[in-house]
Amino acid sequence: QPPGTAQIGVTGLAVMGRNLARNFARNGYTVAVHNRTAAKTEELVSDFGDEGAFLPATTPEELVESLERPRRVLVMVKAGAPTDAVIEEFAPLLEKGDMIIDGGNAHFEDTRRREQALRERGIHFVGTGVSGGEEGALHGPSIMPGGSAESYDSLGPMLGKISAKAEDGTPCVTHVGPDGAGHFVKMVHNGIEYADMQLIGEAYQLLREVGGYSPAEIAGIFRTWNTGRLDSYLIEITAEVLAHTDAATGEPFVDVVLDQAEQKGTGRWTVQSALDLGVPVSGIAEAVFARAVSGHADLRKTSRHLAGPTPRKLSEDEAATFADQVEQALYASKIVAYTQGFHQIAVGSEQYGWNIDLGRIAAIWRAGCIIRAAFLDRVTRAYDAQPGMVSLLADQGFADETAAAQDDWRAVVATAVTNGVPTPGFAATLAYYDSLRAPRLPAALTQGQRDYFGAHTYHRTDRPGTFHTLWGGDR
Ligand code: NAP
Repeated sequence: QPPGTAQIGVTGLAVMGRNLARNFARNGYTVAVHNRTAAKTEELVSDFGDEGAFLPATTPEELVESLERPRRVLVMVKAGAPTDAVIEEFAPLLEKGDMIIDGGNAHFEDTRRREQALRERGIHFVGTGVSGGEEGALHGPSIMPGGSAESYDSLGPMLGKISAKAEDGTPCVTHVGPDGAGHFVKMVHNGIEYADMQLIGEAYQLLREVGGYSPAEIAGIFRTWNTGRLDSYLIEITAEVLAHTDAATGEPFVDVVLDQAEQKGTGRWTVQSALDLGVPVSGIAEAVFARAVSGHADLRKTSRHLAGPTPRKLSEDEAATFADQVEQALYASKIVAYTQGFHQIAVGSEQYGWNIDLGRIAAIWRAGCIIRAAFLDRVTRAYDAQPGMVSLLADQGFADETAAAQDDWRAVVATAVTNGVPTPGFAATLAYYDSLRAPRLPAALTQGQRDYFGAHTYHRTDRPGTFHTLWGGDR
């Protein structure tokens, strides 16, 4: 291949970069490939060279030379300082109108900073969320690009080709919005993923400890759920994990794994951003905290003596009924977790001037990404019907479903509390739901307290204005 013919260059050929490069090549694109450690580039070409047209490059200069103009350089390196280092290597080699696409898990504030700095140099910087793990990268991820509309004109068709396709054939990619919008939405996607996983974990724990089911039986229950409205990738893989037997011990796999959940940080970022924006994402936050609680081994070890009930195992018939109730609770809590995530995107969009179309976000999450689910088709339709909808729960369909689920939802949370089984996700999402529907909140009392100790003033229900009460005799 002569120089200047590759439509895209990929630098960073670990699992994600390698699979995205292969995905582009399999879709007929000529792909220039580069990695800091050249052995990985050679390995890609020797292992998968027959899948399509790869142009191996040993230096950034060589990669840039092999690209057609405007150049598109996809950076798939470790997020953080390595991304800055790689941008600084490539930017001086590029010209006005060229594009650097960062497909790593960057923090959206870093993306905003990088986009602005490169914009001043005439280079488009496209912070892009990519979800679906390594399999998704190869077979079709959900792609969330930010950056300029102009860069999307050039990139959109290519990304559409390599992306997952929803059942109706729509590619799971959209121009999310300017600068850091793509990485922001990817961040919230991961926050929702944390919540989804936590809620599924709570359902499992209840079915095990109160329902008395074995992991294999719970796998069966999840498989059944996966044929209904909970149909999703996470439910599907949960069933697989629960059905898996550890080869070394013959025990259920889930029983031999240390129960300390790790995290890479995107859930934490979601909650940090939600705190900054003042958006209540309690379901997502509880999921992040639940992982943190699990990880504090010392704290847990020294707390084993604390008093609490031993879960009362249900009879077989009761357990079957309980499993149905847990399905209702899981579904209702899931609706709330998504409601909170979408609210965060709406407020972030407003705050940063991104003009994000929530319906399109739901649409591109329908396939390819970790939270893909039949449910997201419903969310897409809800936002299509009411684009300015302030909350997912404003959709009549979701309101009706939570109405139908709420008795069981409450029963499950009550059972969990009575039996001493922690369900922070179920409980927090239910509390959020009840907070939204409450005609009066104790916030009025909070305002009174604030006015008492700090003269912070309050507003009244019966007339406009700002008020302060002279509390106590000598105040
Ligand atoms: P990774 O382990 O995050 O990063 C390894 C890659 O970064 C290697 O190519 C490495 O090059 C390169 N690198 C590290 N420091 C560098 C530096 N200072 N200069 C140049 N190159 C440097 O790889 P990954 O798991 O494939 O992920 C890539 C990106 O995608 C990350 O930002 C990750 O957060 C994001 N992501 C990952 C997933 C996933 O499921 N894994 C999903 C979505 C997004 P060498 O080979 O020379 O060390």
